[in-house]
Amino acid sequence: MHYPLVKHSFLNSSQMSSIWPIPESLRFLALFFVMIYIKMIIIPKKSQKSMFRKIIQINRPLLGIAALITAVCLGSAGSVAQNKSETKIVATFLPIYMFTKGVTGESGEVEILIPPGTDPHEYQATPNNVRSIAEADVLVKNGLGLEEFLDKLVDAAGNYQLQEIDASQKIKALEEDNHDHDHDHDHDHSHETGNPHVWLDPVLAQQQVKNIRDGLIKADPNNAATYQVNADIYLKKLQKLDQEFQTRLAPFKGCKFIAFHDAYPYLAKRYNLQQMAVVELPQDNITPADIQRVIRAAKEYQVKGLLAEIGFNDSRIQQIAQDIGLPVKMLDPINSGSLDQHYYFTAMRNNLKSLEEICQ
Ligand SMILES: [Zn+2]
Repeated sequence: MHYPLVKHSFLNSSQMSSIWPIPESLRFLALFFVMIYIKMIIIPKKSQKSMFRKIIQINRPLLGIAALITAVCLGSAGSVAQNKSETKIVATFLPIYMFTKGVTGESGEVEILIPPGTDPHEYQATPNNVRSIAEADVLVKNGLGLEEFLDKLVDAAGNYQLQEIDASQKIKALEEDNHDHDHDHDHDHSHETGNPHVWLDPVLAQQQVKNIRDGLIKADPNNAATYQVNADIYLKKLQKLDQEFQTRLAPFKGCKFIAFHDAYPYLAKRYNLQQMAVVELPQDNITPADIQRVIRAAKEYQVKGLLAEIGFNDSRIQQIAQDIGLPVKMLDPINSGSLDQHYYFTAMRNNLKSLEEICQ
């Protein structure tokens, strides 16, 4: 279970005392005076006992001031609380969105920039995106050059208050794969800063969650406790996922595979598998020459199988696999899927199953 962001109409007493720097005893005294003041207005003078009347007469101005102070304090507590829940967070794409939601909790308001199902490498920003960034307090990105459109977008939004969280801080990036033997073939994407697909390694994902947690605490210290507790829960789930990968892939040490998108070197390295080659294929019109490249790589590296991606030329890759007598399974780079913060775990467990099946 996740702890929600503090959303307030009402605050509990510890939150009150942190917002209201007046000692507890003084607060109750003020409330007491307010009650007497109200009573004085309600009860007709005639029926007020003389002692009571005396207290009121002496303290009339004091009571007024006490009432005013109480009102101001309650008012300011309310406005601080409102600021808290108004932190606008924008996350760039699905995995970063899920990790951010993992830290904010279910009730945290997080907007996603790149709709699920859209390739983040190819993404073109929209006018709506400019508006979102202009209004945001915090922007969370994967970094490592994945979001190539982002710098221009942030410039266009002109939001000088915006705080950016780079989820890949402190992660040492791997070089991008250049094993594709046909060097005439255009690489769909290459990044100067190294391979950006770090979210597909459950251990590096933990670092991303920690970076997001620390960034949000810095940007929105009022909710620090919430971020801390939620991040701890999410991190535990990632640790459990890592354990599952370790245990279930241990029998397949050194298992070789070919991928069609250079998204899995971190995952392979973590669990002692070998992504031998990345054969990038055009999105449409796979030619006989493309098929030859796959066959050449499969023979050269003696791989156990092909790991294709969900939604990418499924039938053609099935055909290629059949032609060369190798199994093909699907890996999910998690660019598409549900906005549920737990979907990451579903997708990664499917990836684990595919790796197990191909390495049998
Ligand atoms: Zn990619």
